[in-house]
Amino acid sequence: MGLAEHTSRVVAQFDFSDEELNRHVDEFLKQANAGLKQDGTSLSQIPSYVTAVPNGTEKGIYLAVDLGGTNFRVCSVSLNGDSTFNLVYNKVAIPKNLMVAKTARDLFAFLAKQIELFLREHHRDHFESAAHRRSTMSFPEGYRDEQIFRLGFTFSFPVQQLGINKGKLIRWTKGFDIPDAVGKDVCKLLQDEIDRLGLPVKVAALVNDTVGTLMARSYTSAGKHRSLLGAIFGTGTNGAYIEKTASITKPIPGEYDKSTGEMVINTEWGSFDNELNVLPSTVWDQTLDRESVNPGIQMYEKRVSGMFLGEIVRLAINDMMKDDEASLFRDTNSSYNDWSTTTNVSPQSGLLSQWGLDTAVLSVAAADNTPELSTIRQELENTLQVYTPSLEDAQAFKAVAGAVVRRAARLAAVAIGAIVLQSGKLDDPEEELIDIGVDGSLVEHYPFFRDMIYEALRAIEGIGPSGADKIRIGIAKDGSGVGAALIALIAQKMEKPGDFLADLRRDIRRRLSLPFENAGMLPLQNHSTPAFCFLCSVSLAPSLLA
Ligand code: ADP
Ligand code: MG
Repeated sequence: MGLAEHTSRVVAQFDFSDEELNRHVDEFLKQANAGLKQDGTSLSQIPSYVTAVPNGTEKGIYLAVDLGGTNFRVCSVSLNGDSTFNLVYNKVAIPKNLMVAKTARDLFAFLAKQIELFLREHHRDHFESAAHRRSTMSFPEGYRDEQIFRLGFTFSFPVQQLGINKGKLIRWTKGFDIPDAVGKDVCKLLQDEIDRLGLPVKVAALVNDTVGTLMARSYTSAGKHRSLLGAIFGTGTNGAYIEKTASITKPIPGEYDKSTGEMVINTEWGSFDNELNVLPSTVWDQTLDRESVNPGIQMYEKRVSGMFLGEIVRLAINDMMKDDEASLFRDTNSSYNDWSTTTNVSPQSGLLSQWGLDTAVLSVAAADNTPELSTIRQELENTLQVYTPSLEDAQAFKAVAGAVVRRAARLAAVAIGAIVLQSGKLDDPEEELIDIGVDGSLVEHYPFFRDMIYEALRAIEGIGPSGADKIRIGIAKDGSGVGAALIALIAQKMEKPGDFLADLRRDIRRRLSLPFENAGMLPLQNHSTPAFCFLCSVSLAPSLLA
């Protein structure tokens, strides 16, 4: 069997027929609805406490911070009220020692310090006048007003959300390990450190990046169509959509605004079908899972997202390289190679080590339609140390890579299509358009990824070509900036008029528990306000401490 025939056989293993597609959609709907009824099912369907999406008219300045795997981003977003915004941000790498700090305070104090530095750099006037007012106020109303920045906190680790600005850390991932933070409210951990620095900032909302994506898309997408779904196809995959609260029959602890009858649900769809009721499983999928850090978990994500697609291709290509008959990246002699030389693979090639093939290379392969596939061949040399691959080798690589990503795009359409069907909006004559915001390098950069999703959507029963025409999938960038700011705004609207008094009480108690000189100097390290001003103001409002 020659290389071309061998390649076809590998490619065929990644076929994902229309029939399978529809079976997956049915199963997705089943698992999605199970997750709305109870906890502990494969789709977590986590209530976000966000009960409305923006329409583009929102206004104000908000802060947003994003604690991802490697960086901490602080930004302020000016929402202009006309679907546009201005955004400034600072980004710092999280020091490795803080990822495994002794106590949560070490990490969160660092985060609060970054917020202070950001405010001093970008909002100096605001920062100083708020701090001044706070240390000299005679009226409790002076404490919490428009000068207090509301902050949306995007926290990309698993949390059990308990309110719009409350959520307990379930476990650390991505190399973090600070045991005393587990089980604690991460918003409170951050707020405590912000208060210790006396910053005019309230952690108003805890934000999941998919929910942020949905918010950002709703704010920026033109026209009267609000968005239904925000989805990520980057390192991982996940989606958040608007669900009727009446359909969420499991308990939603804590308070939320019931007036809209809707709530955004974070599906955590990466774990769809961990039981493998329907998901395809080639030998390479099985090897990838077995050798991963979390076997049996995130099974859908392992077939769909950027972190894994390169590895599936690598494993398949590796088997082809080992097969004497397939003879991939091997020439018996130079006459077998159209460039009259022999191919060789460096022992250091990424093709030979786990995670050694970045999904970005698959995009390069898909984009090269030149007759000699010279771009792929150069990429194989430059990034994978495969020297002078032949045209046949490049064709085989392109075909296998294309098949793996095509299956991923069709699987992506399963989740998107199922959520569209779940919403019932296709049958609603009032809804001309169903808007979906997507983010992540895979969907953004892989050529025709969205087209492959549309092709699959047309083949889903209940959607069909006319339904697919009603679905608009657009890129939504900056979910963790604009989206988090918008959720902070929504949270602010939910605040009750007396909330600032509780904040004030807390602040006064905290200050009274500190040594005298610290208490006075807290808000303003470089300010000349004497310490007694603060104490005067406390004595003016003794009833507040009750
Ligand atoms: P994150 O998920 O951390 O927010 P991204 O959205 O940038 O980050 O996704 C990163 C993932 O996308 C990585 O797994 C990477 O391999 C993959 N990726 C990066 N560039 C491309 C590209 N050009 N084409 C396809 N996948 C890519
Ligand atoms: Mg991202």
